[in-house]
Amino acid sequence: MHTEGQTHSRVNQCRWRWVSPAVGMLVGLCGCTAPATTHRAAAPPAPAAIAAPATYILEDIRPSSTSETTHVVITVSGPVQPLVQRLAQPDRLTIDLPETQLAQQWSQQEVLVADGRLQTIQVTQSQPKRVQITLALQDIRDYRVAVQSAPHRVTVELLGAVPTAYTGARSTKKGAARVASAQPSALAPIICIDPGHGGHDPGAIGPTGLEEKTVVLQVAKELRQLLQQEMPQYRVVLTREQDVFVPLAERARMANAQQAQVFISIHTNSSPNREASGIETWYLSFAASARAKKSAARENMMSEKQLSMLELILRDMYETDRINQSAVLALNTQQALAEHLAAQYPGVIPRGVEGAPFAVLHRTTMPSVLVETAFISNPHEEARLRTPQYQRALAQGVLRGLQQFLQTAIVALH
Ligand SMILES: [Zn+2]
Repeated sequence: MHTEGQTHSRVNQCRWRWVSPAVGMLVGLCGCTAPATTHRAAAPPAPAAIAAPATYILEDIRPSSTSETTHVVITVSGPVQPLVQRLAQPDRLTIDLPETQLAQQWSQQEVLVADGRLQTIQVTQSQPKRVQITLALQDIRDYRVAVQSAPHRVTVELLGAVPTAYTGARSTKKGAARVASAQPSALAPIICIDPGHGGHDPGAIGPTGLEEKTVVLQVAKELRQLLQQEMPQYRVVLTREQDVFVPLAERARMANAQQAQVFISIHTNSSPNREASGIETWYLSFAASARAKKSAARENMMSEKQLSMLELILRDMYETDRINQSAVLALNTQQALAEHLAAQYPGVIPRGVEGAPFAVLHRTTMPSVLVETAFISNPHEEARLRTPQYQRALAQGVLRGLQQFLQTAIVALH
């Protein structure tokens, strides 16, 4: 049995060259267009001790375009041996990944690219242990496939100039951001929202008994709903859905495992001074001030002595780029939140952005911030925090900051 498309198939002949996976470099390229049959990439010699093949997880698929080429980078958890075919009517490339499964939350995905070379990317679990990725082609001159180890990636490069209608938008910086944001990961990118505290840890408690853990969960759920409405190209993950205690390390692990693009931890502030009020946004840094140390110690549930140990670790693990991105995200969030609230609630004080060694931000691997939405210790702000209107306004402000960050930083993040 065959399909019409397969009858007219023409498969690129690839010449593969392998080096030890330990080298971790781009190792194979093919580009000629001689008619051939299905091609399986040669594999490096397998160690004799491995009896059954491992099952790999498809972790990510990410397209990007320039005026000359379209790249599709497929990231898998292990050394998969891809099977690549070019089929006609309609013109398409199929990339079969044997011994590979989609992560549980993905059953089937189709992403529109439409850059003049690549129309769509479809991802399916075609067999219990086989993933098939189909690139629906528009107009290409040729293609190349490369396999890389550490990380394990299959990169498909589609070659051929495209009409200026597809590339003109890239002539400005703003245009570049638009092109990139029009090409989301086939496995939709994730925004991780972290409502602080929970369960036996109530967080800060207001003068009339309002608990931080309750308010921040409500704000987080409101933010999720807004994100789903206004940014449907993202998926939203909450680190907790209920009044349960989740350790800080587990919150960060969840965000890292999902490869979230950003991590936003939602809290309310507290001070012995009942007059203190306003909004603060924090990002990971060395403790710059005594006040920053106090805040970090409170949210980390650590003594300040334990905190100094964390600072030492941080000095060894300083991640300049991620911290810079986090600082930008913090600034965007703080400004948008302050502006949005000022329009509806006069007198809300924008206290600014500061760096501190928050444990939950230290453990994540993506741009991460912690928003202190208001002072629950201030009677006036506690009363506001109880209301759904204020909770919604907080969520709207955070959403605007996030939108601004993602629109301007998405190219740099990729
Ligand atoms: Zn807190």
